[in-house]
Amino acid sequence: MSSDVRNIIILGSGPAGLTAALYTARANLSPLVAKGPQPGGQLMITTDVENYPGFSGGILGPDLMKEMQAQAERFGTEVLTGLATSVDLSTRPFKISFDDKVVKTNSLIISTGATARTLGLEKDKELMGFGLSTCATCDGAFFQDEEIVVIGGGDSACEEAVHLTKFGKKVTLVHRRDELRASKIMADRVKNHPKIEILWNKNLVDLLGDKKSGLTGGVLEDSKTGEREEISCAAVFYAIGHTPNTKLFEGLLDMDDDGYLITQPDSTKTNIEGVFACGDVQDHVFRQAITAAGTGCMAALETERFLAEFEE
Ligand code: NAP
Repeated sequence: MSSDVRNIIILGSGPAGLTAALYTARANLSPLVAKGPQPGGQLMITTDVENYPGFSGGILGPDLMKEMQAQAERFGTEVLTGLATSVDLSTRPFKISFDDKVVKTNSLIISTGATARTLGLEKDKELMGFGLSTCATCDGAFFQDEEIVVIGGGDSACEEAVHLTKFGKKVTLVHRRDELRASKIMADRVKNHPKIEILWNKNLVDLLGDKKSGLTGGVLEDSKTGEREEISCAAVFYAIGHTPNTKLFEGLLDMDDDGYLITQPDSTKTNIEGVFACGDVQDHVFRQAITAAGTGCMAALETERFLAEFEE
């Protein structure tokens, strides 16, 4: 292999990317991780993580990611802060362009993740992790016996609303239309649940509270009459869908209708040999840090095998 060609570039530095880095670094493959626009991924915008195994007292999301990066670096992972601006996967070595340079690589692991959609309200950033969340599985347990609001009308919103009834004293599902998008079985479960109230034709237009006191409620606007009312609650969960971060690969790699990368069954291989995908960029079902880390490990082992065959 020519010395100006890397073995592996990993795009994305969430649990999937950093696990892939840890494994390939320990295999002496000197991976290069490009951190991407949200270094550390989605866990950087949560507070306590209580469901990542190994931390009986929980760990803060940013602390977990700092540890993962340090562990990967300990074995020789190089971390790059720049953003990849384009990729050329037409021939090997692949060429990955960053703002200031082009790096060649014999293999590529894509772990660019997905971004939970938010409403773009003024206080979104301030209150994220302080009562506002995009993940009920991660944060629901913090709101025991509290009033909880879920925004959305799809399967995720319904699933999260039902999940949150285990913790909250009441869950209010706020939907912008008068009909749920969710599958009938999920919709019925929500409609018939004694702890869930559905507010139809309502848009959340403002959040109340601050970092110090936490979220205290929101302002709802009726989509038909424009009338506004306040709702008090300790938590708001956005469940209005996710967007996979795959713009760089449009037209190059196989994607499903929602833009998620398609990997082969029981594998992280994409449709291009030597290009692997792991974590939320190829998973719209589980979306957990631990499942992302698991597929990151798979990608690393498959890349290692690919490079060994490639060298032969
Ligand atoms: P989704 O099906 O796209 O639903 C998004 C929901 O959010 C819709 O009800 C939409 O309203 C609402 N929404 C979007 N933007 C909004 C905005 N700006 N303001 C207010 N509301 C907004 O997304 P999802 O629920 O995450 O599901 C994604 C895919 O995964 C779907 O195919 C779903 O079936 C699947 N899924 C399956 C399961 C399961 O089977 N257990 C669980 C979760 C997800 P409108 O309805 O008005 O468009």
